[in-house]
Amino acid sequence: MCGTCASCSFKRKTVTPEILETLGLIQNRGQDSVGLATTDSRHRGVPTRHWKEPGSAHKWFNRETGGPLVDRLLRELRGDVGIGHVRYATASLRDGKNAQPHYFDFGGQKIILASNGDIPFCERERRRLKRKGYPFASRCDAEVLAKSLGDHLWTYGGSEEDAFIHMGQTLQAAYSLSAITPSKRLFVMRDPYGFRPYWWTKNKDGFHVCSESAVIASFGKPYEVEPGTLMTVDTTGKIEVHRFADCPIRRCLMEYYYYARPDSLFDSSGELIDGIRFQLGVELAREISRAGYPIPEVVIPVPYSGNPAAEGCAAELHKLFRTAIIKDRFSERIFQQDEMARSELVRRRFSVNPGPLVHKKTGIGKVVVVVDDSIVRGDQARALVPDLRAAGAGTIIYAATAPPHRFPCFFGINTPDPERLIAHGKTEKQVKRLIRADHLHYLTLDSTFRLLGRDFCTACFTGDYPLPVPAGRAEV
Ligand code: SF4
Ligand code: MG
Repeated sequence: MCGTCASCSFKRKTVTPEILETLGLIQNRGQDSVGLATTDSRHRGVPTRHWKEPGSAHKWFNRETGGPLVDRLLRELRGDVGIGHVRYATASLRDGKNAQPHYFDFGGQKIILASNGDIPFCERERRRLKRKGYPFASRCDAEVLAKSLGDHLWTYGGSEEDAFIHMGQTLQAAYSLSAITPSKRLFVMRDPYGFRPYWWTKNKDGFHVCSESAVIASFGKPYEVEPGTLMTVDTTGKIEVHRFADCPIRRCLMEYYYYARPDSLFDSSGELIDGIRFQLGVELAREISRAGYPIPEVVIPVPYSGNPAAEGCAAELHKLFRTAIIKDRFSERIFQQDEMARSELVRRRFSVNPGPLVHKKTGIGKVVVVVDDSIVRGDQARALVPDLRAAGAGTIIYAATAPPHRFPCFFGINTPDPERLIAHGKTEKQVKRLIRADHLHYLTLDSTFRLLGRDFCTACFTGDYPLPVPAGRAEV
């Protein structure tokens, strides 16, 4: 998972401050590396410049420690067209080489791009390009995209648009990308399936695009970059949209269960993801009521991504919503840590408040519904259930708004090895035993579909991949 952003000024103003600010606001999408590139459209001779490093936007652009670097970037990377990227390493190492943006340099002319997504058969495309003599500096999918585009543009000629459209029509992959081209225009492109979210807006001063709609809403009303379209934007304010493919839409369901910011839009209807998660909680409550578990007495969230669903669940059950799991607000997302750091973090980042778990007068433990957004590797559930029990909880119904996560993702999420997924090859009963809950309830896909429609990728839950993928496991 990654986050990308881009801006193009219609007033010849530098967009570097906006890009730096936006990178700090999309860190929920990646903290392994951060980078940006800018160009000055007025001066054809001035090259497109970039900066990228491993580590988070917060680490590099922090007010206290990042001042001199920020000043330098604002000075040296001035430009009226810019792109930015935060990376969560899905398919290669977390180092500077694999940080984005990536580029193709043809005698000083550059296509430089930042992408969110993955190419399922990336190695095959990389080998094809290597055979043509192109050197690769990284293992990153985005470098393959940049080289593919450059190869087409400078081997076959034609317009920059032709190169992008050719790639869109031939490469089967998940991508939401922004690129600066040799003509110093901004190109924005989303794969035909729409796996990863992408939003744009504009006002009289400029054009902005971002993985999270919430982050660009202050500039104007956000619109979806339509799946299967290429948008080209220049600094005169000219915007063109090219549709290059039509496919059944397959948005990533995990974005709505967990990844995306709650204040971002679900789709063009204007509904926020927070509201969607609340409704998923309502559906969860309905399923729990029908399942014949002991009658719940209190609903507690696994903070913070479980909060809106727990609110919905509690409202539907007419039970109290209480905070019993306290989470350190400043720790990083567990999903984005390597294995050693993850188990350490799970132990240290949560503590349990026994108050809501026990009847005050009798000291008897309550029937507690613990609402989590999803259970992927299961580290959190495995750590939390014994802690809740030790704090006095009576019966624990562990409930997730996502179905069992059984298969690897090849479209931009870091679940390459199925063996690391707690539900891979296991029944729900077996998972319940592993996490030591009294009852385990996953919201069914049918309930999600009833609520949200069916235009989603469900591959990690069903094994039904919308694109051909390598057998076995994702390339790592
Ligand atoms: Fe999202 Fe799962 Fe599909 Fe990957 S496989 S894109 S995580 S729904
Ligand atoms: Mg979670």
